[in-house]
Amino acid sequence: MSSRRDPAPAPSADPMRSGGTPLLPGAGWGAIYRGARGRCPRCGEAKLFRAFLKPVDQCPACGQDWTHQQADDFPAYISIFLTGHIMAPVIIALVQETRLSLPALGAVIVAVMLGLMILFLQPAKGGIIGLQWWFGMHGFAKERRAPECPGGED
Ligand SMILES: [Zn+2]
Repeated sequence: MSSRRDPAPAPSADPMRSGGTPLLPGAGWGAIYRGARGRCPRCGEAKLFRAFLKPVDQCPACGQDWTHQQADDFPAYISIFLTGHIMAPVIIALVQETRLSLPALGAVIVAVMLGLMILFLQPAKGGIIGLQWWFGMHGFAKERRAPECPGGED
């Protein structure tokens, strides 16, 4: 048969359920992961940031109000923590295995550390916003995915 088939509706793959509710993450890690990827933690469909560290006021896909977020300087602590743990063995290896002069070592280490800290900042902030939303902190409404029918997949 060569006739065209109509696209089959796939309600389970649709992020917006029939009632207009987005597919909420199943666990807190899901919300953190969506935020760390720069996506809306609630629906995962739209961008969370309108600028490097500026979240959108409202999700264009699901309408979630993100003005409640209060990540403050926690993302910076996470970024510094991760960078320090990554760089500690790298610095030891650089000092032991290379014959770079002290100024050259310093320049390489500072440049790489600054790069890593900037790289981690936005994912850290997105993850914190996802976490705050998941636990209903700072005025976020605590939402959970509706229980699936018994025996259903996922
Ligand atoms: Zn959304």
